[in-house]
Amino acid sequence: MRLSELAELYERIEGTSKRLEIRHLLAEVIPTVPEAEIDLFLYLLQGQLRPEYEGIELGMADSLARKALALVSGGSGDSIKELAKGSGDLGDTARELLEHRPRSLDDAPPLELTETYQALWRMARATGEGSQEVKVRTFAELMRRASPVEAKHLVRFVLGKLRLGVKEMTLLDALAEAFGGPDFKEARSRIEEAFNVTSDLGEIGRRLRQGGLAALREVRVAVGKPVRPMLAEREPSLAAVLKRMPEGAAFEYKYDGLRIQAHVPAEGSPRLFSRRLEDIGAQFPELLAALPSSLASRPAIVEGECVPVDPETGDLRPFQEISRRRGRKHDLEKYAEEVPIRYLLFDLLLQGEESLLGLPYPERRRRLEELLRPSGQVGLATRREIGGLPEAESFFQEALADGCEGIMAKSMAPGSTYRAGARGFWWIKYKREYTHELADTIDVVVVGAFWGRGKRAGKFGAFLVAAYDPDTETFATLCKVGSGFDEESLEKLTADLRGRAVPDRPEEVTSHLVPDVWLEPSLVLEIRGAELSLSPVHRAAFGRLREGFGLALRFPRYTGRLREDKAPEQATTTGELVRLYQNQVRKAAAEGTGESSEGSPPT
Ligand code: ATP
Repeated sequence: MRLSELAELYERIEGTSKRLEIRHLLAEVIPTVPEAEIDLFLYLLQGQLRPEYEGIELGMADSLARKALALVSGGSGDSIKELAKGSGDLGDTARELLEHRPRSLDDAPPLELTETYQALWRMARATGEGSQEVKVRTFAELMRRASPVEAKHLVRFVLGKLRLGVKEMTLLDALAEAFGGPDFKEARSRIEEAFNVTSDLGEIGRRLRQGGLAALREVRVAVGKPVRPMLAEREPSLAAVLKRMPEGAAFEYKYDGLRIQAHVPAEGSPRLFSRRLEDIGAQFPELLAALPSSLASRPAIVEGECVPVDPETGDLRPFQEISRRRGRKHDLEKYAEEVPIRYLLFDLLLQGEESLLGLPYPERRRRLEELLRPSGQVGLATRREIGGLPEAESFFQEALADGCEGIMAKSMAPGSTYRAGARGFWWIKYKREYTHELADTIDVVVVGAFWGRGKRAGKFGAFLVAAYDPDTETFATLCKVGSGFDEESLEKLTADLRGRAVPDRPEEVTSHLVPDVWLEPSLVLEIRGAELSLSPVHRAAFGRLREGFGLALRFPRYTGRLREDKAPEQATTTGELVRLYQNQVRKAAAEGTGESSEGSPPT
């Protein structure tokens, strides 16, 4: 396949912001992509070279791309910088430059998709001394042969600025339309299910291209490919939790730590994946060392929460301590000593060659207990089968007394399989906060900022934050938050976020308010408020509860916790907010305090 076909598709996608149109455009082209290239094609469409969890980065700075362009166009790096300033986009500048390049180069053979991919791969793999040279030369060679339109998109690609809006969910839609037959909905959900198990769109595309929906049966849980985590719903009271689980419930301690999915191969070192499927093993060398001998047999994939502990007593320590270890690249051993951790397992997804996703939770737990050889480093999440409300209450109190944030109720029903990537009532979280009037914490995405005044002049003083709407793949504003930040965190947030400033409202953001600075959605903050209310200003769940109204969080406050373990798409969703609001209304009614401040939602 020629690269020009992909470039043309990029162009057409760029011309529309409508998700449905993008889906149709993709669905038209995808079946024509040769089988051997479909995975590469899908990665490239997402602006990646491999599935996201592999964390492959091109490491191409603006200056390097300009150097490569200078080599091809005959201009100087500085003059290209000036040109790019004018257009605001080095991709557009590349296109212009190549439109005016010397004619003698026009006889170069057109670029093929696979060779382009291989060149990009070489660039990504080049590290250490001389790697910049390799990147520039390889990219210049691509530029030499690229058409102006191809150059535009290649430049954006290598700079990580391919903002076409081809998100995972849209690609899944397109695959369902292309290969799913007449029942789009059914096909879409089967494709998403398979994707949740491997997190690799390339693999899903390849299988669909080879054998249609039936071939998805071959998609297996595999060591090295993270499974999207199963997620929990909320209920406002323990009685409501038990009511949801008429076929029996077991409660587990809900630890406040870092969720880790550990892939332990038969031989060699385990890999640890975070909640957002990043490979974070390097940060926990002691876990990598302890895991193989903690399991009676391998390979296996286990899931658990990694918590900071007091080495003397084994007591849990506050979550903040573990965050000191996140993202570290140096002095790992020193931090391992200073901030000791324990990994408490709560699920088993793969044992030997057998996937356990389809087994009910009690069976998975039983097998986990058999598999584990507990040690100082690795243990089991505390658990009890719950017979009734008094037992539920006392287990909850025990969990709090032991330093947990609450309990995780797990259904014991025969249908309680592991639902990768899905949020449902098979798992229900119930936390300490729910016993106060305050709502649960909410994870929001920063989409804009307001400059501070007075002693906060020169840094951001408040943020416009949003919830994620997976149906439209947009971020819809929930509130403006300025409380709870200390000077140091504002300084750091300003420094971190400045580079994300964009001149206009990002397409994927829906907002009525206009902040001083628009920001590309990237950072997730944890906030807490007094209550949710219907608001004519904010756009979260707009029109879902009442026409002309969205949901807003009243008296929001930053908890001090950055959710670096969450991607923006993993922030609290607008659907969750609707349920939180409904819980709040129900609770207010039950307590006889009347309706919530803005009235109950129409049914
Ligand atoms: P979510 O994961 O639901 O999006 P979140 O990351 O903000 O939300 P919480 O709302 O605190 O987390 O609750 C879910 C998380 O609780 C899980 O993702 C997991 O990290 C953690 N957890 C702690 N103990 C357990 C347990 N025993 N079983 C399952 N999850 C647990």
